[in-house]
Amino acid sequence: MSLIDNFGRVHRDLRVSLTDRCSLRCTYCMPHDFNKWLPAETLLTTQELIKIIEIAVSQGITEVRLTGGEPLLRPDIVEIVAQIKSLEDAPELSMTTNGVALAKYAKELAEAGLKRINISLDTLDWERFKRLTFRDRYDDVIEGIAAAKSAGLNPIKINTVLMRGINDDEALPLLKWALKENLNLRFIEQMPLDAGDAWTRKNLVTADEIFNQINSEYELTPVEERGSSPAEEFLVNGGPAKVGIIGSVTRSFCANCDRLRLTSDGQLRNCLFANTETDLRGILRNGRLTEFEKRSDILKAFSTTVKSKLSGHGINDPEFVKPVRPMSAIGG
Ligand code: SAM
Ligand code: SF4
Repeated sequence: MSLIDNFGRVHRDLRVSLTDRCSLRCTYCMPHDFNKWLPAETLLTTQELIKIIEIAVSQGITEVRLTGGEPLLRPDIVEIVAQIKSLEDAPELSMTTNGVALAKYAKELAEAGLKRINISLDTLDWERFKRLTFRDRYDDVIEGIAAAKSAGLNPIKINTVLMRGINDDEALPLLKWALKENLNLRFIEQMPLDAGDAWTRKNLVTADEIFNQINSEYELTPVEERGSSPAEEFLVNGGPAKVGIIGSVTRSFCANCDRLRLTSDGQLRNCLFANTETDLRGILRNGRLTEFEKRSDILKAFSTTVKSKLSGHGINDPEFVKPVRPMSAIGG
């Protein structure tokens, strides 16, 4: 079975948000005084998550990324990883984390079957980190990166969002550091997904700008075969080291998008920017349905969600309407 939309895009990648809560408050993701958390009873249990992932895999999903909010805040995180890896036809599994709790979990996660990881870090200055995230956890993230290395997670990708006048002077220092540490750095254009209205196109640090900054000091050669990856990758000084730029706004990659998203409260989304969701939690918790009927309804829900996917995200349309959920509640 394949999940093919009306534009011929085959969906193979499921992003699974495990919680909307977080140990940081990155300004582009949620306001520092945010308090509209999803009610605890609405979060999918370990068993519910595994059930949905197993069904997704039976429909051709081959890659699962655990995200959030902060996925390492889930007390059952190691169990979730182990259960996904023990599924028949287990998908490729990865995780995006802020790294704060990685020193505690990296070894256990690797033992449970996690192979690779993305860690978000926007600055190498601890004071700036505190300002950007409203939390004094820079040292924890650096320790987390070291722990990920010792645990043998590979590749380790670093996700960085550059913001005008805030950390846009760090593209080169971050790349120098990443090359020295043997980490794969990717810059992500900031998207209008914060819970406030701070995002403006005028302030956007664009993919072109990032490329030009880096290219002023390093020779960048495009890596062919991008496939469905959102990152345009470049060899640095002939390689093998690479740097990625994800131009979500100015170089949209919607035409090759193969991603679906499951929120931590069990809503299936066909795009980060979708304004509609399909309720899988309601199906799973409907006591009037047999297990067979639940499975069949979830299969239908996957199919209709994929079929209703739009050709593109619309950020660049004048009448663009931001999703109601902030990034932290969708899962990046
Ligand atoms: N808490 C984890 C973390 O920070 O890695 C996982 C969730 S976070 C929402 C996933 C990724 O989305 C992070 O790399 C973060 O930098 C990125 N992100 C969050 N808000 C964003 C925005 N408005 N534009 C672009 N990237 C964003
Ligand atoms: Fe938390 Fe990740 Fe959002 Fe930062 S980007 S507030 S770490 S969910």
